[in-house]
Amino acid sequence: MTDGNSCVFCKIAKKEIQSDILYEDAELAAFRDVNPKAPVHVLVVPKKHLSDHYALEEKDARWVGNAHLLVNRLAKDLEIEDGFRVVINCGEKAGQTVPHFHIHLMGGRDFHWPPG
Ligand code: AMP
Repeated sequence: MTDGNSCVFCKIAKKEIQSDILYEDAELAAFRDVNPKAPVHVLVVPKKHLSDHYALEEKDARWVGNAHLLVNRLAKDLEIEDGFRVVINCGEKAGQTVPHFHIHLMGGRDFHWPPG
């Protein structure tokens, strides 16, 4: 189990490892995915360590809402507001590879449904 000390997204939030950070405030950070699956691929994360979507609690509601508002602001800034995909993988079975809650914002190409 990953804790905040060994977590790659915690290290990005603390600037212990380099990344292309597009936005940060006291609670959230947004940075470009190192292995993008679309021309625009940004990850929005809480700065505090939280393993996945299912670990969310009532006290997290405010920053989760702010994270989704940030997704919309980034979509506009990155000029993909006419169509983008927002993905949250929860758990290994769903394809989650980094056990720190994150929202994928992807755009700049067509997407298909259902996803794989
Ligand atoms: P998921 O599979 O939903 O857990 O997504 C994890 C995402 O994190 C993948 O799209 C990876 O490419 C991305 N990723 C992993 N390490 C880094 C890193 N150091 N900087 C930016 N993105 C990363």
